[in-house]
Amino acid sequence: MASVITMGPDGLQVPDKPIIPFIEGDGIGPDIWAASVRVFDAAVESAYGSDRAVAWTQVPAGQAAFDETGEWLPEETVESFRQHLVGIKGPLTTPVGGGMRSLNVAIRQILDLYTCIRPVRWFQGVPSPVKHPELVDMVIFRENTEDVYAGLELESGTPEAVALLDFIKSEYGWEPRPDAGLGLKPISTTGSKRLIRAAIEYALANDRDSVTLVHKGNIMKFTEGAFRNWGYEVVKDEFSDRAVSWEDSGGVPGDKLLVKDVIADAFLQQILTRPAEYDVIATTNLNGDYMSDALAAQVGGIGIAPGGNINYQTGVAIFEATHGTAPKYAGQDKVNPGSVILSGALMFDYMGWVEVADEIRRVLEATVGDKIVTYDFARLMEGATEVKTSQFADAMIERMS
Ligand code: NAP
Repeated sequence: MASVITMGPDGLQVPDKPIIPFIEGDGIGPDIWAASVRVFDAAVESAYGSDRAVAWTQVPAGQAAFDETGEWLPEETVESFRQHLVGIKGPLTTPVGGGMRSLNVAIRQILDLYTCIRPVRWFQGVPSPVKHPELVDMVIFRENTEDVYAGLELESGTPEAVALLDFIKSEYGWEPRPDAGLGLKPISTTGSKRLIRAAIEYALANDRDSVTLVHKGNIMKFTEGAFRNWGYEVVKDEFSDRAVSWEDSGGVPGDKLLVKDVIADAFLQQILTRPAEYDVIATTNLNGDYMSDALAAQVGGIGIAPGGNINYQTGVAIFEATHGTAPKYAGQDKVNPGSVILSGALMFDYMGWVEVADEIRRVLEATVGDKIVTYDFARLMEGATEVKTSQFADAMIERMS
């Protein structure tokens, strides 16, 4: 019988028939979900026969929910994710003129999903703009709850901006131009340390070589620079038996995990020139946004970039496509389902169903390797067979063992 995933003292307890809520998504979401769920079910069957299966349960959000209930993010949906712990979602329309900045940001903040994890690696055959995409094999841990996403912005010339300008002038003697808009961003010890801790734990558990703290601390010393310093404190205070900083090891960590740091602009240069030097990345929210897209582009673009939003304490995790709803392709059975499919693989990794995750990644690579691809890859490849979203799923399922 289907039952709920729970959190025990040793982590997630996943039954053989877990109930997993999903949001189909808006725009291209339904096309992609229909294809992805067939791949997931086939991969579970291929790995475990009839011993295990997922009981999918649909929960409303986005445009479809709004049309039906007048709410973009019904409370029952948030509650369902809270109860079932693990869920997956397609892209959601951002309400224009609504009260929330974005539904995705709202879900992450309400459920305190403080880690955004984005693995970036190249799959054989995927068209790439760089010469050696195979050298990119990184896992980005992006802080998900603070920075400018939880910040305050005041519009130039408004009474609020004028009041803040007066305050900072009288308190700090600081006088920006009187017609400036103003922005404040919080970056805390708590938020930074729990994110960096998660990155280090992941790196140790997955036998990765290094964790790099990416920041802009040379300019923003007490937010970005502090992120870096708190990271090194975590290494010393909590992981000294298993991890060591660059400074304390001279870059020779022995059998320990190396933790180093780099300024964000240098990082963006080096992921193009020396990508093999980077492995697990821990970074602040806005930096993580830029880096994920830059790295995704190096290995084939957002059509296949997966993501997960995780709170490692409560266990709640929602896996999602990193692209949007691409409304112009809605209902055409045309776009690449790779992002949701690989997000599903990430979800199965998180659940400990690694055989399913490995099978999904193996057949995706085999399918693209046979040059069976959707339009986005077909336009960049010579001799490709362009297929629809649903046919791409068929081709993956045919290649399962
Ligand atoms: P978008 O939906 O990501 O689409 C931009 C372009 O990216 C598409 O026109 C297409 O490029 C390409 N693309 C996206 N998904 C693809 C896929 N699965 N396969 C192949 N190509 C794909 O970005 P947008 O048009 O800026 O945003 C549309 C809506 O989505 C907005 O409401 C936005 O707020 C929302 N959004 C949601 C999320 C989320 O739910 N996580 C994330 C971002 C944006 P070509 O036309 O060049 O082929």
